[in-house]
Amino acid sequence: MKEHYFDYAATTPVDSKVLEVMIPYFKEKYGNPSSIYNKGQEARLAIEDARERIAKIIGADSSEIIFTSCATESNNLAIMGTSLYQKFQNQEFKNKKLHIITSSIEHHSVLEPIKYLEKNFNFDVTYLPVSKTGIVDLQDVKKAITNFTVLVSIMYANNEIGTIEPIKEISEIIQREKLKRKKENNNLPIYFHTDTVQAIQYISLNVNHLGLDLLSITGHKFYAPKGIGALYIRRGTKFLPQQLGGGQEKHQRAGTENVPYIIGMAKALEIAVQNQKKEAGRLRKLRDKLIREILKKVPDTLLTGDKKNRLPHIASFIFKYIEGESLVLKLNLKGFYASTGSACTSDSLEPSHVITALGIKPQIAQGSLRISLGKYTTEKDINDLIKFLPKIVEELREMSSIKGDF
Ligand code: PLP
Repeated sequence: MKEHYFDYAATTPVDSKVLEVMIPYFKEKYGNPSSIYNKGQEARLAIEDARERIAKIIGADSSEIIFTSCATESNNLAIMGTSLYQKFQNQEFKNKKLHIITSSIEHHSVLEPIKYLEKNFNFDVTYLPVSKTGIVDLQDVKKAITNFTVLVSIMYANNEIGTIEPIKEISEIIQREKLKRKKENNNLPIYFHTDTVQAIQYISLNVNHLGLDLLSITGHKFYAPKGIGALYIRRGTKFLPQQLGGGQEKHQRAGTENVPYIIGMAKALEIAVQNQKKEAGRLRKLRDKLIREILKKVPDTLLTGDKKNRLPHIASFIFKYIEGESLVLKLNLKGFYASTGSACTSDSLEPSHVITALGIKPQIAQGSLRISLGKYTTEKDINDLIKFLPKIVEELREMSSIKGDF
């Protein structure tokens, strides 16, 4: 049976050019970058080179990049590190209830550390609502900011519905707040963090043009291995390290660096950026064909997410009267691999918080399917899916006990 992989937003295979540059660092060049002899320094030079190349791609200085194990860690470090620093080290604000703003459709690796701060460290949190297509309202951001807001964390683009957020405009609001605080001698910083896990490979961005303070990435969404990520931290941003016990990453993240994976991630990001425009254009065409044909061929189907402000590789639907899990399993039997939402929550039967935040009722939200494309997706794959998916939905609907008009 031919396999059709449609879950590139969950993870991607490692590019062979990426693997090729990694291999020497598992074998001959296996030194520990903290060792001062040649073999260690060979590894040190290689990771510093990788750091510089990644920094260049996002317009940062290499001293502003910290390597982590994944985006979950990067997001945790960004959120907990900056917020707890202000809570415990900023004398003026020690007994104050600090405030965080985020959106209701963030990845759990953003939402959970924020909830943790809310529950255990007495932070106030504003979870911004989103429009029916998943866009944060700028007026809501403006209104939510208080003199005690220490962090705004809004994702660049959503992993389940592909909606791209107005990051530049949100940043402008935050920059104005920074100026206001300066004038008013308010010594609490307000940091802007964005999770660019799904966006970085398709949208060229510059941390200075966008006025970002913190930005998270992970290698396995752009053809590097799983288990390597990075966090951009603007120079001067104060934060408490979350992992202690070693001087690595200038004491900001203890633990021996994952040398081969760091080198692989830098190469993978370079490849992604080199082909960005062409690949985004190609995927956009395939995605639009898929959306058009599925909406035409399958009745009672909704497209979730924004039509215009949408990542090129994500198409997401709701098929009424069926459950997404059954659809995923039935597709699997035919060799089609897709997901109901984000891979990290697909073992839970709760309707996705992203879909329900769009104002979709939980019983309808159950029928969601995310199809995500990548560099090995061909027009033939799309045509095959267009051929099979309507039949599979129809079969499931015949057996389904979910009826009625929602
Ligand atoms: N943020 C977003 C938007 C994601 O899609 C994911 C993974 O699905 C993550 C964070 C977590 O990334 P990692 O698997 O590297 O921890």
